[in-house]
Amino acid sequence: MCENVYCKKCGSKAVIRLPYANLTLCAKHFSEWLETRVEKVIKEYKMISEKDVVAVAVSGGKDSTTLLHILKGLSERNGFDLVGINIDLGIDNGTKYSALSTELAVKNFELTHVRYKVIELKREYGFGIDEAKLKARRPVCSTCGLVKRYVLEEAAESVGANVLATGHNLNDMAVFVMSGYHTGDLQNLARLRAVSPAENGYIKKVKPLFLTSEKETATYAIVNKIPFIMDSCPNNPSVGGPTSDKLRRLIENTEDEIPGFMVRLVENFENKIRPFFEDLPKFNLGKCKMCGKPTNNDREICSFCALKIKMGGDSKDVVAK
Ligand code: SF4
Ligand code: ZN
Ligand code: ZN
Repeated sequence: MCENVYCKKCGSKAVIRLPYANLTLCAKHFSEWLETRVEKVIKEYKMISEKDVVAVAVSGGKDSTTLLHILKGLSERNGFDLVGINIDLGIDNGTKYSALSTELAVKNFELTHVRYKVIELKREYGFGIDEAKLKARRPVCSTCGLVKRYVLEEAAESVGANVLATGHNLNDMAVFVMSGYHTGDLQNLARLRAVSPAENGYIKKVKPLFLTSEKETATYAIVNKIPFIMDSCPNNPSVGGPTSDKLRRLIENTEDEIPGFMVRLVENFENKIRPFFEDLPKFNLGKCKMCGKPTNNDREICSFCALKIKMGGDSKDVVAK
């Protein structure tokens, strides 16, 4: 609740201030406002159409559980089919982080009556992130990101989906954009998209919350009593490294000073700047000899299969480059 602040629509106690939209809203009107806003983004960016089968990746955190609940409402009104996917990443480290995350994801699938699939990384692929952290000789979050991208793609295909929706929020997107400007890594910036079309053997991927802030997803989850995991991953301090953490704080402080800064940064990037990257030379995509998925720069095997080999998995007759 915001002290002595009232909803601009009905006059009851407000739960959130949205300075960039010049709004203060109660629980009911904020939920309606956010649902309408996400629906508008989905339509404007042609993310989902009524014939689609949409796989929604749910980690159990506030962003993805909020996305699941909003998409469920939309699927009932707009007719698309919705399937939930959760990966049990095998992160424990004495915290039971993955077990709890999966438990909360499943609770939300059951609450929303969305059919779902849980992929237990260790059982399906022979290793979990805890083991990869010890053996993969690369930063754990980079390994985890690679694993999530690959496994979500496979899982989405296996449930018959043609669209994969993820819960990346506005704060994440603003940090990616700023990091890209900071490092000048144009290839990375070019890959940052609210909508990635189906191409080169990958399915279409969409980020319906790319203009929704962390504060908004957390408030939506709390006022709608959506169960979500509040603990951070025990590897959290390594996400993106200290520079990324500082950029995040800088961006969030700037948002306090200049309301609407994050939305403009990300929206302008998506609409006005990223189109210039279309002319950048594309990666030369090959085909992985182990799994058949695309590989970068004509490598014989993809990064995920190379990781599996390092983890003592199926090496077949292929030698990692
Ligand atoms: Fe994976 Fe790192 Fe996120 Fe943990 S903090 S879930 S290891 S990317
Ligand atoms: Zn109200
Ligand atoms: Zn492969």
